[in-house]
Formats: sequence, structure tokens, C-alpha cells
Amino acid sequence: MALDGSPARESATEGAVCGGPGRPEKGCVKKGYVIRKADLPALLERFAGACDVYAPVYEDGVPVFGGPEGVAWDFPKTVVPPKEFFLPHTERFLKFRRQGRGYEVQPAGAPAPTVLFGAKPCDMAAVDMLRRVMLEGRFKDEGFEERRNSVIAVAVACETPDRYCFCDAFGLSPGSTRGADLMLYPAGDLMYAVALTGNGERAVGLGGTLFAQASPEEVAGAASRYGSRDGHSAGARTAGSCLTGETVREAAGRMATDFHLPYWEEASERCLSCGICTYLCPTCHCFAVVDRLRGDVGTRSRCWDSCMYSGYSLMAGGHNPRPTRLERVRQRFMHKLVYHPERYGEMLCVGCGRCVEKCPVGLHVASVASELAAATDEAPGGGARMDGVPASGARTGGAGVGGAGCGG
Ligand code: SF4
Ligand code: SF4
Repeated sequence: MALDGSPARESATEGAVCGGPGRPEKGCVKKGYVIRKADLPALLERFAGACDVYAPVYEDGVPVFGGPEGVAWDFPKTVVPPKEFFLPHTERFLKFRRQGRGYEVQPAGAPAPTVLFGAKPCDMAAVDMLRRVMLEGRFKDEGFEERRNSVIAVAVACETPDRYCFCDAFGLSPGSTRGADLMLYPAGDLMYAVALTGNGERAVGLGGTLFAQASPEEVAGAASRYGSRDGHSAGARTAGSCLTGETVREAAGRMATDFHLPYWEEASERCLSCGICTYLCPTCHCFAVVDRLRGDVGTRSRCWDSCMYSGYSLMAGGHNPRPTRLERVRQRFMHKLVYHPERYGEMLCVGCGRCVEKCPVGLHVASVASELAAATDEAPGGGARMDGVPASGARTGGAGVGGAGCGG
């Protein structure tokens, strides 16, 4: 048994150094440690002596990454996911100054070494999906790579998955280690830890004597409690937490076989084009590049954008390939469940549930997947129509559905 509860790899090499940040190499041996929960404040102080440190805190009752004072030790899911540490909301690429007929260019400085403490496993899995988009293939986003390398990501297994999320529908669990450098598993007064990468080992090194070695059996025992969302209160379940992988795959199959499903007309009528689903999604990565010039001095920056906005796909010359909400809503869900899997072999969703919780009209991955999977093929023209609303009540919106169980 490996330290994260997964079957040990036969090719594992004792003592091998693990891979780059968030990318444990196949076959590397993960090392186990243990730390007392009471020593976590001291651990953060040690981190703060060497790096910038961010952890979940409550600001006006809202969970966000901040601190390191006032850490919320129950590690709530933050409203904005930690993707902003890797793909900042606004990121200055360079400054430029007009010099005669040319420009003098001043690139952005290197990112500060940072410890991101208490991230959710799903959010770090999302960062790893972004890494693949930004770094695999013909073009490499060097800024993303620098920032990923500069962050030590310490994830904490979810003790109480919330009522909106559904990581298990996308092959993850409350104890998933994907994308993390150091993984912590709460167990009573202790936190068992697995260093998955060189950055994870650096975190343990900064903690020094606060960490003790733990045996593979001890760590695997702690990790095994987080292998599934079972035990979650059924009475509090929502359209999100009721979603299954089978439902998602069935819906994706329908979407892939009929691009012109009548379903999109009805679904897109609900959408307000507010874009909150894309801003808060840890895997969404639409962006715009903006040049600003004041006098002889200017900047080039990248900022988050949204495929739910009509301006996002507007081209120079005025043509817009996605002129109405129908095309834009379809694009968002096709990208997540069909196009991204075609390119990367996995769906672009980690089941964090933020879209379920925040979409004001209940149009999200869980409702779309449930509605499409429940629809029949009997609509005129052979397309799917919505005549099978799931018992979870997905069409009424995730946030308002509580205590109904998961239907069936
Ligand atoms: S799907 Fe919901 S959250 Fe997303 S843009 Fe439409 S109304 Fe806003
Ligand atoms: S689509 Fe929704 S549930 Fe999936 S990762 Fe994005 S916000 Fe989370």
C-alpha cells in the first residue's frame, strides 16, 4: 500500500526524489510524516520566516485565502479558488516605454516564494489540469510555470465535504493528492503528511522538528478515511452532491453525438450571462490580454475573462462565432465534458460545487448533466428534450435543494 492509500507501484525506487511541484513522478517513493495539530500555528510561523504564506481565513464571514493570522483551522472551501495563485486575476506581463521609434521593455519580476496552506484536494487537482493546458503541447506559458514552481502547495484532506460538491463524480476523492506538494490527512489530534514532490520535502524541511517520521502503514491508515465521500449526510445533499460519474458520462455521450440538441435552447434561456460560474471555477481559464498606454508608458496584462460574455469571442471586423447565449452556454459545457476530454483524456471539472452554489439560476455541471442524462430521445427532430427532471430537483438550482436525498 502506498502512503496515499493507493496500491504501491512495483517500480518504486526507495528514496527517489519526487518530481516537479505538483507533479510526483511515477515510481517515486513518497515519504510519510506526522505533526500535531497543535503545532500547525508554529509550522506556519516557520513558513512565514522563509516565504509568503496564505491560508483560508474568514473575511467578513467569507472564506478566502489570506493570513497567515486568523487561519480558519477547519479549512473551509474558499469562495474564490486558489487558481489565482497560479493564474492571477490580473497579471502584468511587462511594462514598456516609448523610446524614439521603438519601445524599451521591462519584463515582470519573478514571483515570490509562497506557501499555499490548506488548499482543498479538488482545487489542487484543478491546478494540475491547468498545468497541462498551460505547459503541455507546442506552447509553454513560462509565467505559469514560474509561479507553479514558486508555490509550495499544502493540501488538507476534506473532513466534511460540503453539500454542493461531487469530486467522486470526476474520479477524485476527499483525500486525492493530485496537484499537491504536501498532503495532510487529519486524524484526531494529529495530521499525517505525505511529501509528494521536492517542494513538499522543502515544506517538511522548513517545519524541521515539528515533523516526525511516520510509517507507511500509519499514513495509509489515515489516508484510507478519505477515499470516498461516503458518510456524507444524505439529508443535506443537493443536485451537486447527488451527481454520479455515470450520469456525467451519459450526458457527455449525448452532447458529443448531437451538437444541435434542442436542450440548449431551453437551458440557455435561463442563463443571465453573469459569468460567475467561470470566474469561480477552479478549472476555467479564459483570459484576455490588454495593452494600456498613457503618454509614453504602457503595460501589457492578462486578466480573467469568460466564455459566457458575448465580447469574449468577438473578432476584429465584427464577426462573432458565438453570437447568442445558446452558443455560449453550449460551449461552456461542451468544453468541460466533450472537447477537453478529446484533447486531454479527462473532463475539465473537479466537482468543487462552486457553480452549483453560486449560479443564480441553477445552470451548472450537475443540473446540465442530470437533465441531459434524464432526457429522452423522443423530441421532434430526434434531439433530447427535458422531460425527466431528476429527483434531486436539479432544475430548481443547486443552492435551493436540500434535504431531498439523491432521488431514486
Ligand atoms: S450559467 Fe449561471 S453563473 Fe454562469 S453565466 Fe449563466 S447565470 Fe451566470
Ligand atoms: S464546473 Fe463547477 S463543479 Fe466543476 S470545477 Fe468548475 S465550478 Fe467546480
